[in-house]
Amino acid sequence: MANQLKKPEDHDHGFIGCCIKQLPKEQWVAAAAKAIEINPNNAPALHLLKLAMPDAVLQPEHLAVVTTKYWGSGGVQLTVGFLDNPPAALRTRILSHMNAWGAYANVRFVESSVNPQVRINRGAGGGYWSYLGTDILNIPANQATMNLDSFSMTTADSEFYRVIRHETGHTLGFPHEHMRSEIVNAIDYEKAIAYFMASQGWSRDKVIAQVLTPLDQSSLIATAQADPNSIMCYWLPGSIMKNGIAIPGGTNIDTQDGQFAGLVYPRNSGLFSTYYTWRGCGTVNLNITNSNIHAGSAVYAAISEYTSNPRQTRFIGSARMGICNISPYEGGVHIWAEINWSSPINVCIDLAVRS
Ligand SMILES: [Zn+2]
Repeated sequence: MANQLKKPEDHDHGFIGCCIKQLPKEQWVAAAAKAIEINPNNAPALHLLKLAMPDAVLQPEHLAVVTTKYWGSGGVQLTVGFLDNPPAALRTRILSHMNAWGAYANVRFVESSVNPQVRINRGAGGGYWSYLGTDILNIPANQATMNLDSFSMTTADSEFYRVIRHETGHTLGFPHEHMRSEIVNAIDYEKAIAYFMASQGWSRDKVIAQVLTPLDQSSLIATAQADPNSIMCYWLPGSIMKNGIAIPGGTNIDTQDGQFAGLVYPRNSGLFSTYYTWRGCGTVNLNITNSNIHAGSAVYAAISEYTSNPRQTRFIGSARMGICNISPYEGGVHIWAEINWSSPINVCIDLAVRS
């Protein structure tokens, strides 16, 4: 998926970067405590910090900085509201891209106008940003937790994939992939500062904070290797890289992103079975909707005829039938079946699903 969409050129100042919004410094320690209360795994790995700095006295402010902000392993169910009254079609479209993470992880965003936890604004000139994970709980109710600068129904579809899925990743607690030391170390420091000051209007300090400060290894729950195609990775132009080769950056949630999200927020991967019946013959392309079936589910199907009760009187008669193709999607499954009989008969299809 990555790399197929056109990337902005170096001179294209229309490219809007993203910054992770930080709480005011005086809230850091309390916000870290709240993050650890919600998910104890957010606590910094003290044994690693002590290995790295054996003589240091660890201050609460420092520990707050290396505290991660993931939601609980029980999954993420958050309500979403809009502060500037966008049309219903746009709200639905934004929600659908936020919920794209649900194909990989136990994540669900539901629109609500009553005390929404995620609050989206489209402030022009404000750029793209989100607070990180549980930090959104510390923002006053009348203020945004995410800004999608000027998004409208005429915004390019590729931007919905690139920007909304990325900002939603921050709301889920995922930091910037390009802040991993493998990538930061490959950036030419001064060229990057000049580039982001010119193209984004950022201060030197902001460039250092948003692009040039590697994530603390002790606080890193992460995939083994930095992923330059991650949706959480910026596109970085070749002109600021020491080797001159651009970091492609993510244009959609890629396989590694999905696997990682599934590790942090594992879906209930239970097995269940169900069945459907219809009366018919010939080739049918069934569309069975079921909210417990996901794009990544394993679906197995069996098929047979029945007389009056699909749970009690299934049988194999003269009509030969077969299941050809099974294709699960988010919220259901398509199944191509064939019933070799010239007139309609009672057919029962049994599904075993590992969701
Ligand atoms: Zn970002």
